[in-house]
Amino acid sequence: APRKLAAGNWKMNGDLAALAEIDSLCGTHGNASCDILICPPAVLIHAMKERVGDHAIAIGGQDCHAKPSGAHTGDISAAQLKDAGASHVILGHSERRADHGETDADVAQKASAAFDAGLVAVICVGETEAERDAGQTLDVIGRQLSGSVPQAAHAGNCVIAYEPVWAIGTGRTPTNDQIAEVHAFMRNKLAAAVADAADISLLYGGSVKPANASEIFSIAHVDGALVGGASLKASDFGAIISAL
Ligand code: 13P
Repeated sequence: APRKLAAGNWKMNGDLAALAEIDSLCGTHGNASCDILICPPAVLIHAMKERVGDHAIAIGGQDCHAKPSGAHTGDISAAQLKDAGASHVILGHSERRADHGETDADVAQKASAAFDAGLVAVICVGETEAERDAGQTLDVIGRQLSGSVPQAAHAGNCVIAYEPVWAIGTGRTPTNDQIAEVHAFMRNKLAAAVADAADISLLYGGSVKPANASEIFSIAHVDGALVGGASLKASDFGAIISAL
């Protein structure tokens, strides 16, 4: 069965003072029954890893370069994330696809680099509102999965996050049936490409809050969440962890 994972994406938020939230989370959820992952800005990874200490909270990056090293000013390699204390890296988030023009092929190359460095890739897919309105949701998700998930993916090195672009930071969420449809589709699509697709954790992301988490976690093939805004405060994120 897939592992249950509560993942927090801090995006471009937080500073050293915000590590107090991690102290709090360690105190309340340092021995949770599900996996916990926090992906802070890269400059905080090392300090956050030290703060977590022996508690069962994993740390991840939010992006990596496809190459292991070299003349790429401003970029960070998967091996560097690992060296700083990360075990995971978010790849292909819609904000990077939109703000930095990342294509499915870019995401696949970054994911391969993450695998090579021994990181778990949390690969994000999701349709825009216009694509959903046009009835293209499953086409888009299918294309993104085919293009972004390398053949070397398996349950031990890859997590998939379904994040509808229109649900991110908006307070809007799909209906349970809409989430169920996409997650079942992803499970089947992955099964055609990956031997242990039944064990890959499939996360839902987009306006997950303490108030809607348990309902979302009750949907078939939802193995956890990728949480933005509600991951910044230990009280909110802790409530989501407890719901899982
Ligand atoms: P919000 O939870 O703030 O909607 O963000 C979701 C997200 O993009 C996580 O990667």
